[in-house]
Amino acid sequence: MNALARRAAQAIRTARKTVALTGAGISAESGIPTFRDPGGLWDRYDPEEYATIDAFRRNPAKVWQMMKDFTALKTARPNPGHVGLAQLEHMGLLHCIITQNVDNLHQAAGSRHVIEFHGNMRQVICQQCGQVLPMEEISLDTLPPYCGCGGVFKPAGVFFGEPIPPQALARAYAEARTCDLMLVIGTSAVVYPAADMPWVAKEAGARVIEINPERTDLTGQITDLIIQEKAGVVIPQILAEIKAMAS
Ligand code: NAD
Repeated sequence: MNALARRAAQAIRTARKTVALTGAGISAESGIPTFRDPGGLWDRYDPEEYATIDAFRRNPAKVWQMMKDFTALKTARPNPGHVGLAQLEHMGLLHCIITQNVDNLHQAAGSRHVIEFHGNMRQVICQQCGQVLPMEEISLDTLPPYCGCGGVFKPAGVFFGEPIPPQALARAYAEARTCDLMLVIGTSAVVYPAADMPWVAKEAGARVIEINPERTDLTGQITDLIIQEKAGVVIPQILAEIKAMAS
């Protein structure tokens, strides 16, 4: 395993611009279940019933109740994978993170340049007037929560069937197009357009390194190196290799 971590470390040290694309897998070791792994969220909550914008419009109270029950999202702490990426950024070795996660754990770990491709669950947005408020400023005693204008508040995470926030989309494509190394960490790379980023990077000449215990649709197609290990294990190893190379 260390030999692979060393190769990744070498690639990061010599890259001009490294960008990371992260998915639910990087937060698995923080106790937040992924969507597609066995025992994950999709096993318990049918996405058609809970995670689509149509489902929210049909029955916002039901979707809010699931959100309220999803306590892991509120209590989770960053793990060594998140912390390692934040350190890479501080060392000037990671330009930014494009994350599909809505859990705020990259920012909690200290990463500053985070593109939230699927929005976040820290905020709510009124479906009528568009007002955005921090989640903790609204009462969830009665569901769904309502805005002063009479509209329903929705968590600011992107639901299936909703567009990607345009600024995040534009920034992510721009970063993918101009990086020369993309780290693809903890994503099954099946949810588009996020899954497009490694392809865009590859087409522009970047190398692609995957960190994922499982192979994905990218593996064997555009991935130059896959490290089949947990992110919270291998990212600290990569960091240690980089530090050893620098000393
Ligand atoms: P996914 O559930 O489709 O895939 C998770 C991937 O992570 C899998 O390929 C799995 O093999 C890998 N994985 C599992 N444990 C890992 C670990 N310890 N280290 C590294 N990799 C690991 O997730 P996705 O690709 O992000 O797509 C699902 C969608 O669900 C995304 O759009 C995301 O917005 C959303 N989601 C977010 C969270 C969160 O914010 N933490 C949690 C669940 C789902």
